[in-house]
Amino acid sequence: MSIRHHVNDELLLAYAAGNLAESWSLAVATHLSLCPVCREREARFAAIGGVALEDIGGIAMSDNALADCLARLDGIVPDPPPALRDPTAAAVLPSPLRDYVGGDLDAVRWAMVGGGVQQRILPVGKVGQARLLRIKAGVAVPEHGHRGLELTLVLAGSFSDGEAEFRRGDIQMADEEVQHIPIAGYGEPCICLGVTDAPLVFRALLPRIVQRFAKI
Ligand SMILES: [Zn+2]
Repeated sequence: MSIRHHVNDELLLAYAAGNLAESWSLAVATHLSLCPVCREREARFAAIGGVALEDIGGIAMSDNALADCLARLDGIVPDPPPALRDPTAAAVLPSPLRDYVGGDLDAVRWAMVGGGVQQRILPVGKVGQARLLRIKAGVAVPEHGHRGLELTLVLAGSFSDGEAEFRRGDIQMADEEVQHIPIAGYGEPCICLGVTDAPLVFRALLPRIVQRFAKI
């Protein structure tokens, strides 16, 4: 499998820094579980972040700073590392997604959208939206108005946007400038993860609050 369309630097940096909303974080984690190239990039970004923190910590440390720090670490249970390898290679859904669905593809409760498209909304909190889409082979997904960024990650089958073809692991990024009508490849349905709206938590909250009060 060779992935040709990867996570961009901006998203990967935000992911490494923990600034992504859950919806977008899920998409990046899912791509990373399929893509060794981006796992390596993410490790480099995380290392750069660690060096930056060490620089800050190097200023004006007291004599017992290390002991203090170790004492504090005693009570802290580290977060589990992001899934790096998919233990069940035959599964369609990589492990970050299976946690949301409660199993592999056969556990997904699809809802009909119409026109050969089914979806399953994933519970990812209030910022951004994430859904699994199942698009019948050869079917064009009708233009769906969206504001802001949209990310589509292919999990099975393929789709084409007229310029490029996207297969398992590939990511397509689109914003409102991009007119794209994805067409699922022939032969098998295209299963993909779609994430829309605000990728960054801090970018998302304020406009939403303003919108609510302005009743836009
Ligand atoms: Zn990648």
